[in-house]
Amino acid sequence: MLNIVIFGAPGSGKGTQSDKLIEKYRLFHISTGDVLRDNIKRGTELGAIAKDYIDKGQLIPDDLMVSILADVLDANREQARVGVIFDGFPRTIAQAQALDAMLAERGTGVTAVVGLEVPEEELVQRILLRGKLSGRADDNLETVKNRLDVYHNQTAPLRDYYQKQGLYRAIEGLGAIDDIFGRICAVVDALD
Ligand code: ATP
Ligand code: MG
Repeated sequence: MLNIVIFGAPGSGKGTQSDKLIEKYRLFHISTGDVLRDNIKRGTELGAIAKDYIDKGQLIPDDLMVSILADVLDANREQARVGVIFDGFPRTIAQAQALDAMLAERGTGVTAVVGLEVPEEELVQRILLRGKLSGRADDNLETVKNRLDVYHNQTAPLRDYYQKQGLYRAIEGLGAIDDIFGRICAVVDALD
């Protein structure tokens, strides 16, 4: 199994590169942001809870997020057997520990963490542009500042967590989408 965590700040290109990865490697894509936005759109109870946090640029509480992820994994056992791209999860150390436990229970583990490294000014520009094009409610200047703070305080420490396990692979996240994808593929092809 090839379980890849695609890691990076908001706007670093996780979703874009995940789409290309699932096509090439036939992996199962779990984007926690997409799962939450889908729940908001369908007006579920979970969606109502998630909306408050997302609009403020805050993280959904760990215990809730972990149980959502376990549900998605269980509901897609067959597709997940080849391997999974985890996009947007884990975002905290507690989530990373929960992911390790969940995968261990299923007889597997994280194969590698692909970290998209993009300078902050570029992140802000990309997110504001995306807000104009897609109208995503959390892609505005005020929320972006919060999301970047949350990233630095709660998510960035995961680089260390995975570096210590020898799993972190830094990818230069600036440049053309296909060039960045080429850098990721070089890393993925060298795995196992
Ligand atoms: P990218 O632009 O790189 O695809 P992003 O950070 O802009 O990433 P999403 O991953 O779609 O966007 O997440 C949007 C929001 O959903 C987050 O700001 C957060 O509120 C919530 N969220 C998503 N994943 C998690 C998670 N693992 N834990 C807690 N909250 C989450
Ligand atoms: Mg995304």
